[in-house]
Amino acid sequence: PTSQPVSPSRPPTLSGVRHCIAVASGKGGVGKSTVAANLAMALHHMGLRTGLLDADIYGPSVPLMFGLGTVDPQTTPLPLEKYGLKLMSMGFLVSPEQAVIWRGPKVAQAVQAFLAQIHWGELDALVVDLPPGTGDAQLTLSQSAPLTGAVIVTTPGEVSLIDARKGVKMFREVRVPILGIIENMSYYVDGAGRRTSIFGMGGGMKLALESGVPFLGELPIDPQVSECVDGGEPIVRRYPDSPVSQAYRTIAQTI
Ligand code: ADP
Repeated sequence: PTSQPVSPSRPPTLSGVRHCIAVASGKGGVGKSTVAANLAMALHHMGLRTGLLDADIYGPSVPLMFGLGTVDPQTTPLPLEKYGLKLMSMGFLVSPEQAVIWRGPKVAQAVQAFLAQIHWGELDALVVDLPPGTGDAQLTLSQSAPLTGAVIVTTPGEVSLIDARKGVKMFREVRVPILGIIENMSYYVDGAGRRTSIFGMGGGMKLALESGVPFLGELPIDPQVSECVDGGEPIVRRYPDSPVSQAYRTIAQTI
C-alpha cells in the first residue's frame, strides 16, 4: 500500500490504521482465509505493521491457521499477537458452534465491535477476512468498515467466477476501490514439473479484464499450503522460498 489514509469518520481505535484491506470471495472454499492470512504475513515481512481481522464469524479460521484457541478477554489483551501480526477473531471468544446460530445483523455488530473497541494501535495495514458471499452481512460490513480497498479471491472455474463477479458489483455499490483479483488453486505442478489445471483455467484474468480491475496473480495448488493451515503457521512464514510464498510476496508488493 502506498496511498494516503482515508475515511476521517473511522472509529478512534482505528485512527492509527493507515490501510484497511478486505479480502472477499463470492463462494466459500476458494481459499479466501488462507489468502488473507498469507497476505498479512507477506505484508509484515515487507516491514509493514500489520493486523488481521477475521470477520468470518461463522467459520473463523484465524485460530486454526495461527495455532491459537479461545482466551479469556478479561485477562488476555486483544488483539492477540503471533508471528509479528496483530490478530482478532471471533474464534478467540466463542466456539464455532456458538456463533453459527447468529443472524446477519448480529454478525455485522460483532465485527463492528472488533473495529470500534479493539485497540489496534499503529498499523500500516489491517487485513479483513470477510465472510464468504455477497449477501446482506457482507454488504453491511463493506459499508461500515472503513475499507481502503478490497481484493477478491476466486478459483479459475466458471462457477466460482459467477459469484466473484457479484463481489465486484458489491464493492462498486459501496464505492470501495477494488485493488484486484487473486486467482487461487490455479494449477498443480507435478513431480516432473508439468502444470495441470484442475479447477478450470483463466477465470481470474477473465474477470479482471471484463471488470477493468487489476489481475494480481495466480497461486498454485500446493499441499504444503493446507499442511501449513492445519499446522498453525502460514506458508509464507513456514516455507518462505516456496513458489506459493514468492507469489504472495509479489501480490503484497503490488497492492
Ligand atoms: P475459504 O476461506 O474461501 O472458505 P480456506 O482459506 O478456508 O477457504 O481454504 C479452504 C481449504 O483449501 C483449506 O483447507 C486450505 O488449506 C486449502 N487451500 C487454500 N488454498 C490452497 C492452495 N493454494 N493449495 C492447496 N490448498 C489450499
